[in-house]
Amino acid sequence: PVSPQAYRPETAILTLGPAFYDPVEAANFPQTILRFRNDRAAAEVGLDGLDDAEWIAHFGRFTPLAGTLPQPLALRYHGHQFRSYNPDIGDGRGFTFAQMRDDRGRLIDLGTKGSGQTPYSRFGDGRLTLKGGVREILATEMLEALNVPTSRTLSLIETGEALERGDEPSPTRGAVLVRQSHSHVRIGTFQRLAYERDEEAMRRLVRYVLTNLYGEDGDDPVRLLTLVVERTATLASRYMAAGFVHGVLNSDNINVTGESFDYGPWRFAPTWDPQFTAAYFDHAGLYAFARQPEAIHWDVMQLAASLRLIAESDPLIAALQGFAERYQVAIREALLWRLGVRPRGETEDRTLVQTLERTLRATDAGIDRVFFDAFGGPLPDHYDDAWNDLRAALRGYIPRKPRTHPYWHREAPCSMLIDEVEAIWAPIDAADDWSALNAKIAAIRVMGEALA
Ligand code: AMP
Ligand code: MG
Ligand code: MG
Repeated sequence: PVSPQAYRPETAILTLGPAFYDPVEAANFPQTILRFRNDRAAAEVGLDGLDDAEWIAHFGRFTPLAGTLPQPLALRYHGHQFRSYNPDIGDGRGFTFAQMRDDRGRLIDLGTKGSGQTPYSRFGDGRLTLKGGVREILATEMLEALNVPTSRTLSLIETGEALERGDEPSPTRGAVLVRQSHSHVRIGTFQRLAYERDEEAMRRLVRYVLTNLYGEDGDDPVRLLTLVVERTATLASRYMAAGFVHGVLNSDNINVTGESFDYGPWRFAPTWDPQFTAAYFDHAGLYAFARQPEAIHWDVMQLAASLRLIAESDPLIAALQGFAERYQVAIREALLWRLGVRPRGETEDRTLVQTLERTLRATDAGIDRVFFDAFGGPLPDHYDDAWNDLRAALRGYIPRKPRTHPYWHREAPCSMLIDEVEAIWAPIDAADDWSALNAKIAAIRVMGEALA
């Protein structure tokens, strides 16, 4: 086993007490075939020294990592799903396997997806499809490169199981994924305690989040809400600048650290289309591209409503009102970041961002292409009038770093559209050919380096 000195194990979650989770066991899979190990993410928590056999023992068989949790814990939570309250959810196909510190000192959870049934599986099999796992790798790698705070995909192991899924050719291959993230405390974790009217547990959870996730010593629910408003408004702005549509922004899918996670029917918008919807079952477009800030704000309102159990409403409402203001600042920062230019001042930056948004709406060009072509260089093939204004607004802006990196080559812009995902999956499914996936991850990381 990896030396416990290499990583910094934690058990903070146990201080919440047994009413927050259920000890569970992983499924006994017929096979464990290592398909993806994220050594870059592993290095941040000191797990990159595991050899493949140890990796599989921990992330396919769930042998405990010394010093952290003795047994996996399925977390309890409720949530609003498409605006209907559901008290019957919780970790139905995953659990928290371990906790540790990363190289920035943050408390990290290793959580699973597809590790087997739990008391919260309802009619589900507790499993994840291999294709779903591949999609989660692609989403997390792309979002990380595009500066969106996100969970990481640490590991993907194929399980040798054949799964039945109505919306895919059946049977389809099964897998188990390990996610590395800055907490799995969701807005729905708070909602469950409000529903149970458990004031003592609510206070304990507020303290847990402030202390362990925000590094603040205290138990003030208004302070907590203020911090969550700030982080989630930032997340909303980063989704927009990335052209990303999460698909299922239910309150049980919103982490109180503002880290994006749980990648199901996600898509990147091909063009800047406010109505663009990711989930085929989202008939009303509730979680459409441009409605994401509003959807996240709505979820945070449910956090405020839950905190009413232990706080007065006026200061909670005041804290909620910070969302719009934070979003306005954050979207400017996020779009300027993606353009790769330094901010100049509020007036110029506002004009630039308005012009950019107009260009994005007007053009048929892909979002990645617009960001790439906006700044200097030859006029784009998809040139039209909005481009004149954008080029003019960009005059006087200075690139954050010299554009000598391979990514800034005209042919290099990197997107993650649905047909690319299908083209990456097809050779895996047909011939266990993982080269397209590996090439894409490498290209995404090159882009991330250029933008960083
Ligand atoms: P999601 O839409 O992924 O956020 O999941 C909502 C709820 O359904 C959570 O409680 C999940 O754990 C549960 N769930 C999703 N898929 C499965 C599955 N295949 N088996 C059991 N539970 C599941
Ligand atoms: Mg979920
Ligand atoms: Mg999910």
